[in-house]
Amino acid sequence: MTSPPAATPIPAPRQPEAASGLGRIAAKLRWLVLGAGLGCILMAAPPPESITLQLKWRHQFQFAGYYAAQEKGFYREAGLEVTMLEADPSTDPAREVVAGRAQYGVSNSALLLARQQGLPVVALAVIYQHSPLALLARSGAGIHSVHDLAGRRIMIDRHSDELLAFLRKEGVPVSSLSLQEHRFDPSALLNGEVDAISAYSTDEPYFLDQAGFSYLTFTPRAIGLDFYGDNLFTTEEEIRAHPARVKAFREASLRGWAYAMQHPEEVVDLILARYGGRHGRDHLLYEASQMAPLLQRDLVELGYMHPDRWQRMADAYAQLDLLPTGFPLEGFLYDPGAGDRQARRNLRLMLTLALPIGLVLGAAVLVFLWMNRRLARAIRAQAQMSGGLRESERQFRFIAEHSADVIWTMDLPSGRFTYVSPSVVQLRGYTPEEILAMPVAEALTPESAARVQKILIESLAEWHAGATLPPRVVEVDQPHKDGHLVPTEVVTTLHGDAEGRPTRVLGVSRNITARRRAEEQLRRNLETLEQAASTDLLTHAWNRRHFDAAIEGEMHRSLRYGHPLSMLMLDIDHFKRINDTYGHPEGDRVLMEVADQVRAVIRLSDSLTRWGGEEFIVLMPNTGLANAKALAERIRESLAGCAIEGIGPVTASFGVAEYLPDASRESWLERVDHALYRAKQAGRNRVEADPLQSGIEPRGEHPEGTFLKLAWSASFRSGNPLIDAQHERLFRLSNDLLDAVLSGRDDGDLAALVTKLLSEVAQHFQDEEAILADLGFSGLQEHRQKHAELIGKALDLQQAFQAGTLSSGRLFQFLAQDVVALHMLKADREFFHLTAPPQG
Ligand code: GH3
Ligand code: MG
Ligand code: MG
Repeated sequence: MTSPPAATPIPAPRQPEAASGLGRIAAKLRWLVLGAGLGCILMAAPPPESITLQLKWRHQFQFAGYYAAQEKGFYREAGLEVTMLEADPSTDPAREVVAGRAQYGVSNSALLLARQQGLPVVALAVIYQHSPLALLARSGAGIHSVHDLAGRRIMIDRHSDELLAFLRKEGVPVSSLSLQEHRFDPSALLNGEVDAISAYSTDEPYFLDQAGFSYLTFTPRAIGLDFYGDNLFTTEEEIRAHPARVKAFREASLRGWAYAMQHPEEVVDLILARYGGRHGRDHLLYEASQMAPLLQRDLVELGYMHPDRWQRMADAYAQLDLLPTGFPLEGFLYDPGAGDRQARRNLRLMLTLALPIGLVLGAAVLVFLWMNRRLARAIRAQAQMSGGLRESERQFRFIAEHSADVIWTMDLPSGRFTYVSPSVVQLRGYTPEEILAMPVAEALTPESAARVQKILIESLAEWHAGATLPPRVVEVDQPHKDGHLVPTEVVTTLHGDAEGRPTRVLGVSRNITARRRAEEQLRRNLETLEQAASTDLLTHAWNRRHFDAAIEGEMHRSLRYGHPLSMLMLDIDHFKRINDTYGHPEGDRVLMEVADQVRAVIRLSDSLTRWGGEEFIVLMPNTGLANAKALAERIRESLAGCAIEGIGPVTASFGVAEYLPDASRESWLERVDHALYRAKQAGRNRVEADPLQSGIEPRGEHPEGTFLKLAWSASFRSGNPLIDAQHERLFRLSNDLLDAVLSGRDDGDLAALVTKLLSEVAQHFQDEEAILADLGFSGLQEHRQKHAELIGKALDLQQAFQAGTLSSGRLFQFLAQDVVALHMLKADREFFHLTAPPQG
């Protein structure tokens, strides 16, 4: 829910009494009709008819409904004077009734066997939906299961064929049993005369419990032999001769049963007062409480019997050879509607006889007859409707009362809860009654109430727009009685009346605490995973994966807003020595401490990435080269100035470069890497800025970006005079080209410069390859390949420039930066190594 909404509790299943209220009015009207129309024939209402009901045992709560019908006057209202006969162990109710000593009787599933023996008995109504018959056995004495009863002494009531069926089905040979006539006194079991007795689970256990006797209960139901219990029956003859009486007696008896089960204490007192004190009050109340579940009144209408169930019982008997297979049930089961039909036939017959008496009278009769039929139709419709309604209500109630979810209804437009199912106690700590008594505003948090209200308003709008409404689902937190909030998912649907007005909301509220917890856990796990995926586990700096994603964004922002962006790369000096001297774990500790120290110096907007083993990168948004150099210097000082415990100070070398618009990420990284390389070359524990950038005087501003002038520096020398001379010359040619681009000179000059530069580059590559070959440089093949690619691309771009599809700026950028500067300073690095051993 919200837990609920609810207010008008879902009506309890109506009792047959109530259901037949209209029927009773109709019956009275019918008497009126008859009285008025046929006054001359039937001068007065008939005197009560006397009938006898044969019980199947002595007076006790087992027959409570009949006592109630008698005491509350239901029989009298039905025009009946009923006498009830007790039974003793030798009484067979079926035979008593068939012999005419009673018109009605109480039996159980044995009625089927009586029918099979040729007795024309007819079952009118089933009172107990489940049989209370059981075997009670003394515990101990080697009896642990029903199988242990084989060969034992058992007292079985002669109308307890169900139990014989049960024993046979359980594989206990009845012939092996020492069967004894039932004395209907559990003392035989108590004093060890027998090992087991047949009994009513509603009755005898009371004695045994009182006596503190320990016993086992075996019921056929436990193995699926689910027999009906007590029923009410009569004969075919009674139904044929007195259909109205049968119907009236049946209905009044069921009314009595409904009353008795609603007022057990009152009926217990009645039994004590009127029907002898064989059992005490507690015993009778015990019996009443044990009977309630067997009647199943909350699920099944009193008196109800299903032909299939009778058939299954007959089949169970057939399997045990107590009945023939496929025993026919035709005529055995009473049809309550048949009486009405017969009564109407009789009425018509009587009216036909009355016609000669007079046209006026006849006309009146016809008018009454017409009224009567209309009324009967109305009653049938009403009965059908209320029958269907009762059934669906019963089903709804069953589902609601046994659901772990809270099911509720809300009345519209009042917005009051009309029902809320019992599981609301588990959900919210309140009983349904407490919820119902609460204004909706109090039953929910204001936030939840607003959410539910919004859903309702939307649903109502859709309803009025004639849309088909799918169930609405909303998550709301509902206050528990103890104050905490319970997360729930609420599903609602609208229901309307016959005129299409929305009158009711039906809702289901489900506790989603477990789901929320699982979601929260999942979210945390994902966060941890994500964290792990983007950070370095040792130093908690970002990892390369995260860096790759972050750098693109920073470059984009820098371009877009024109903010400077710089990067520094640091590499711990002689780290191998630390590992070698102190061991790898200590090396790890140094890495962690270095990362911590770097973090302590950089700003929040800067980010630290572990680039490789002992290499880190700091990305510095909004930072130009000069500031980046200063920051690198501070980090260097901090590291060099502070000793790591047990190891001493650790130094690092730094390369710094600023991002140049339109440069690629790779070329930027190469410049940083190169600066770092230079720092190492220059003796370590120092900061070097990008030499390409630091020598630029001035930068060339161009509509397509900022172009670099290349400044030759002595530190670029390789040691090979030819190569160094060529590198220096190429730098100069590149700068000439830049001047041409920036000055906007005519394309002829510019094209000539490009051709010149390209041919000198090609010559340089050739010479370099020859020197490398002489030196036996292992990466020659790869280096040659790189040369070929660069020349190929340069020629393509030159063609595009000549065709007018590429600007001079773009062509320059590629030649100066990618070919001359980067390749010669970076890719030729190995070559420098070979020709001039590093300093420091
Ligand atoms: P230089 O001053 O030239 O940088 O010298 P260096 O010893 O630091 O040389 P280099 O960068 O080649 O060596 C880095 C060493 O770092 C090599 C490798 O064993 C070590 N290393 C890489 N990753 C880790 C790590 O996670 N933990 C530890 N303890 N050592 C690592
Ligand atoms: Mg290194
Ligand atoms: Mg190192």
